[in-house]
Amino acid sequence: MAEGQIVKALAGFYYVDTGAAVYRCRARGIFKKEGVTPLVGDFVSVAVQDEEEGVVDSIEPRKNAFVRPPVANVDVFIVTVATAEPETSLELTDRFLVTAEAAEAEALVCVNKDDLEPAEAKRIAGVYEGLYPTVIMSALKGEGIPELKALISGKSAAFAGASGVGKTSLVALLTGDDGLETGGVSEKTGRGRHTTRHVEIFRLEDGTRVYDTPGFTSFEAAEASDLADMNIDAHFPEFEEFSGDCRYADCRHENEPGCAIRSELEAGNIKRSRYDSYIKLLEKQRKMQW
Ligand code: GDP
Ligand code: ZN
Repeated sequence: MAEGQIVKALAGFYYVDTGAAVYRCRARGIFKKEGVTPLVGDFVSVAVQDEEEGVVDSIEPRKNAFVRPPVANVDVFIVTVATAEPETSLELTDRFLVTAEAAEAEALVCVNKDDLEPAEAKRIAGVYEGLYPTVIMSALKGEGIPELKALISGKSAAFAGASGVGKTSLVALLTGDDGLETGGVSEKTGRGRHTTRHVEIFRLEDGTRVYDTPGFTSFEAAEASDLADMNIDAHFPEFEEFSGDCRYADCRHENEPGCAIRSELEAGNIKRSRYDSYIKLLEKQRKMQW
């Protein structure tokens, strides 16, 4: 038996890196019967069959797991937006931040395409600075990479963000892998992007693990049923210092009298876009449509 991490899932095989070797594995039949799907990022035991092949025998308890993208054990999500092409939805960004934190992952904000609209980069970063680690980048110009690397150093990091914001380009810059195809048409093959879509972990020299999750633009934790019970306001860090001041202990910060969050909003100490996102998430929670 060997211990390792699933670093790639492709065509029904799991590739398990033990540090000494990478084994191409099938999963034991029992997983399917129990409705368990091994995920990239899982720490597993492998029954080794020969130098190249084995069988995934058991999965260690997970820190967290996600349905989309299908990964486990993520320490930090790099919630990525662009200054333009596509335009940033602050509501979507806030939902991604809450989803990451609710799944016990850290979240940071990466504002990409600074080269296109630098004023917009400052505006978006201004919403998040002081709440989350925030970095302004240009994958095109190679700007911000050392800052991003420092923020994720030694951690298991995955990107989350809308299509076209530059996730693939940033993974390629982090891993130094120019072979990753970005949006548009690959020069080499002439085909569209990511003709082979698979999730894979790349290891950087400092031990950082970067999850490449091509094509996944929606973001959903495995424990979506917890949504109903989630205290959404607990995942808005700027609410924290004030929420104890609301008149009612169970204040949802909507129209209740004596709501401290609303008075801080009026006083300009809580940003309007953040409050609006909070209210929209409350509504989504009530409809159970995250
Ligand atoms: P993904 O869908 O999030 O993986 O985005 P891609 O990495 O595929 O990038 C989408 C498009 O945006 C491609 O045409 C990239 O070349 C382009 N792109 C990525 N980063 C930047 C950037 O910093 N500046 C500019 N101007 N374009 C970028
Ligand atoms: Zn309140």
